[in-house]
Amino acid sequence: MDKRFIYADNAATTAVSEEVLNAMMPHFREAYGNASSIYELGRNAQRDIENARAKVAKAIGADPNEIFFTSCGSESDNWAIKGTAERMAKKGKKHIITSVFEHHAVLHTTEYLEKQGFEVTYIPVDEKGLINPEDIRNAIREDTALVTIMYANNEIGTIQPIDEIAKICNEKKVLFHTDAVQAVGHVEIDVHRQGIDMLSLSGHKIHAQKGIGALYVRKGIALPNLIHGGGQERNKRAGTENVPAIVGLGVAIESACKNIAEKAEIITPRRNRLIDGILELPYTRLNGDRDKRLPGNLNISIEGIEGESLLLMLDMYGICASSGSACTSGSLDPSHVLLSIGLKHEIAHGSLRLSIEEDITDEDVDYILEVIPKVVDRLRSMSPVWEKMMKGESYE
Ligand SMILES: *Cc1c(COP(=O)(O)O)cnc(C)c1O
Repeated sequence: MDKRFIYADNAATTAVSEEVLNAMMPHFREAYGNASSIYELGRNAQRDIENARAKVAKAIGADPNEIFFTSCGSESDNWAIKGTAERMAKKGKKHIITSVFEHHAVLHTTEYLEKQGFEVTYIPVDEKGLINPEDIRNAIREDTALVTIMYANNEIGTIQPIDEIAKICNEKKVLFHTDAVQAVGHVEIDVHRQGIDMLSLSGHKIHAQKGIGALYVRKGIALPNLIHGGGQERNKRAGTENVPAIVGLGVAIESACKNIAEKAEIITPRRNRLIDGILELPYTRLNGDRDKRLPGNLNISIEGIEGESLLLMLDMYGICASSGSACTSGSLDPSHVLLSIGLKHEIAHGSLRLSIEEDITDEDVDYILEVIPKVVDRLRSMSPVWEKMMKGESYE
């Protein structure tokens, strides 16, 4: 077995594509103008930003003047949530609804707002990692300022019933924001048709660079600034525009959203082969609904091992994977997402997330399916927990 290098962690970040890099390059050394300057070099930068804005808008079914560039997906989430909270608090609405398994960019923001006197309802998810829209309907109150529910979960890849949730929010006249960082480029999105009021996206999950994101805010919603200063982004988000990154995001999102269905057709069978192959190991389970999930995501719990050891062993075989989310690895707390779908701590600890794209070949899949059982056998043979399990002893 020849060692390969396989990047199966695209939910953590992606490589900048050649196409994106080529589009960005002139903006560092030749087309470096400040978009606020009135001479041609500046005007060209402004024009290129607006072209990119049009591309982002088109990719999600928005109008260009509804798109604001930010520094990342986390900033977009913070802005949508804190901005709405600030705005609605003035109307006496200080209740926010979100879910228990959001990304920390959302959860830590709502926890911050709780300390500022807001009340937050955390909607549970079922054992398949799905939210029941009726739970949202039941949680909405007179003083609800915002519902924020992620489009697709970053760890277990489950795609939420966004259309139904948006419909309920529209009926109840409550603003609806979605963190779509994992969904953009993998799921068809049309914010106007779907009734989404605000949507966060990020560049580095779709082959643009790290440190660029965007927030869609439906026309008519006056979100207060998160960053104050100059008049950039129509006075809504100060700071000299990161032109290369913005241009790159435009190219990246256009490319990512061009052939979503075709990509899914290539990836899904390979993803399914990985799922079925790994589930042949005893004491394993797939986390998240099998069908309502991102085409490239699989998340499997493997009992009797620790996620971190598994990742290190896979790394020795050239496989980049993840266990829990990148933000929580390094800490010993099991993933809040895996706990939210009802996994016990020990089982949540031994989880593996692979997030693949269409560049993964059938040979890569073969290789992964050859490596994982070997590594798992090895780790289990050294594991006291596994030993106890096999003797039928309690190990909790
Ligand atoms: C990666 C990610 C974010 C954060 O985006 P950054 O650009 O890294 O700040 C937010 N939400 C979800 C679901 C993500 O996967």
